[in-house]
Amino acid sequence: MNLIEFLKKQNIIEEKKADKFIKMLEHYSENDVLYPDVIKELDLTLNEYERLFNELERRDYVSTIYIIQCPYCNELGNSYVDEDDIPFIDHCRFCEAEFNHQENHITAYRLYFNYAEEVDVIEELNMKIAANQDRIMEITEEIHNLENARKTLQLENINFINTKNELLKNKNESKAYSKMATRGSNVKFLGKYLDNKKLGLKCFRCGDDMEFFDVNGKVMGACPGCDTEVEIEFGK
Ligand SMILES: [Zn+2]
Ligand SMILES: [Zn+2]
Repeated sequence: MNLIEFLKKQNIIEEKKADKFIKMLEHYSENDVLYPDVIKELDLTLNEYERLFNELERRDYVSTIYIIQCPYCNELGNSYVDEDDIPFIDHCRFCEAEFNHQENHITAYRLYFNYAEEVDVIEELNMKIAANQDRIMEITEEIHNLENARKTLQLENINFINTKNELLKNKNESKAYSKMATRGSNVKFLGKYLDNKKLGLKCFRCGDDMEFFDVNGKVMGACPGCDTEVEIEFGK
């Protein structure tokens, strides 16, 4: 908690006075000195003043300092953190009058807003944000790599499926396919009619329509009825 947050939360002085104090503190920075004439503007009762500043000091939002004030010219002189350090008799730095310093000083407060804690939290958040950002970049790269792997696998599967469909088509539509497939690794059913050659063949033994196959680049005919096979050579 910082000084401003404390002032918003406390219930030693009424909210209106606390708001006025907060507004006043907008013009102050860490380690600035809050003088009694400024505090007077808050219209605190003596009880409020003592309770508030005791609490502020206890929480290290202020520390008391003693500032010498000349009773002759009213100028401010040295300041002391410890009342015991104030000299007894000394000269005014301005009018050079000699007076009892221990009896002529004002009480002021050095301010500690205590924002440091929040700065640490911000720093911590910055580090977390940076770490997350790094991880996001890593994940983005991983996603990119995985996406490429996915595309590669998908393309491979499309090829597998096309091949499988072709094989299924061969198997389903051709009666001689399974026998023909033993002749080579690269057997393709071409149908019972070769469109590009305008060619159909009837088996000379049983009269069935022959099936045409591409076997390792050669065109072969096979009869589904009697297993007669022919190799067909086209004119060059
Ligand atoms: Zn003086
Ligand atoms: Zn036949």
